[in-house]
Amino acid sequence: MNAPSVQPLIDPFARAISYLRVSVTDRCDFRCVYCMAEQMTFLPKAELLTLEELDRLCSAFVRLGVQKLRITGGEPLVRKGIMQFFRAMRRHLDTGALRELTLTTNGSQLARHAEELAACGVRRINVSLDTLDPDRFARVTRWGRLPQVMEGIAAAKAAGMKIKINTVALKGFNEDEVFTLAEWCAAEGHTLTFIEVMPMGDLGGEDRIGQYWSLRDVRARLAERYTLTDLDERTGGPARYVRLEETGQKLGFITPLSHNFCESCNRVRLTCTGELFMCLGQEDKADLRAALRSGGDDSALEQAIRGAIARKPKGHDFDYSRQKVEGQVSRHMSHTGG
Ligand code: SAM
Ligand code: SF4
Repeated sequence: MNAPSVQPLIDPFARAISYLRVSVTDRCDFRCVYCMAEQMTFLPKAELLTLEELDRLCSAFVRLGVQKLRITGGEPLVRKGIMQFFRAMRRHLDTGALRELTLTTNGSQLARHAEELAACGVRRINVSLDTLDPDRFARVTRWGRLPQVMEGIAAAKAAGMKIKINTVALKGFNEDEVFTLAEWCAAEGHTLTFIEVMPMGDLGGEDRIGQYWSLRDVRARLAERYTLTDLDERTGGPARYVRLEETGQKLGFITPLSHNFCESCNRVRLTCTGELFMCLGQEDKADLRAALRSGGDDSALEQAIRGAIARKPKGHDFDYSRQKVEGQVSRHMSHTGG
């Protein structure tokens, strides 16, 4: 447990910050059409925090009361040596300071890492999967192969991890797969969560409004076949859950656009270069890499973190309501970490 003398991280709107999402790389072995342009320029490797710096920074957040750490990217499992980082973070689970160590992955490298992740204390993972059709999968990810991801998911299940499937709802793409996805998840024991497309980054000509499919419509589609019961469960994030009475499964909706969730926000996001974004939908950030590399001790680093949290804004300004993308931010999701 944290020493009682440590003041927890509380932002100006009295929200306790207990959840850190960490992007460990901006690179990826896929090029999902809503996330990246096909030709991406990635950061020079020297810009990235080293694994030791990531450890020092994450450990500082844990000392300040962060209880949940989600590792993301880019594709976190393509970062060289990433398992060394997972092995190191296990010590915070062992002391009880960290309650959960988890990751969001495209699943492509899961088959070879699942067992070791489980051994490092990862009990739940999010796997992004927008379709169960191999040809569609190749189209939406540009570079991905569905069988490889399915193998990865099977390996994670065999290693005892709980799996949440994240599906981006895309107009004209997976509208007809809502039931197939729900049924497959029910049969496999996975939780399914639908996500709305968010206006992040330049996609080289892709049309955001063309991609946007409101989750209200997804919900209405599901209600044609299932009885949906709203669940009270709150994660501090944008997900809202229902139970499908006919299958008993839990299903989530992440609706940053048609439904605002900022009042209960408990999280901040660290990029692979050490920038801390206090809000996914705002441009303000704090440079923690400078604090890390300044030669100061951990108390200077903790001061820099506290200074950043003191600037956490009330909320984001995304809005598609006038058929024009309002509140767009220029960086890609793979930079901030989804
Ligand atoms: N590569 C990993 C993966 O795909 O799970 C982790 C990083 S990815 C950026 C995290 C999540 O963000 C994925 O579920 C992806 O579908 C989602 N995502 C990416 N771009 C998005 C966008 N513009 N709007 C909504 N979700 C997006
Ligand atoms: Fe890669 Fe994930 Fe972005 Fe797809 S959503 S391109 S898998 S980072």
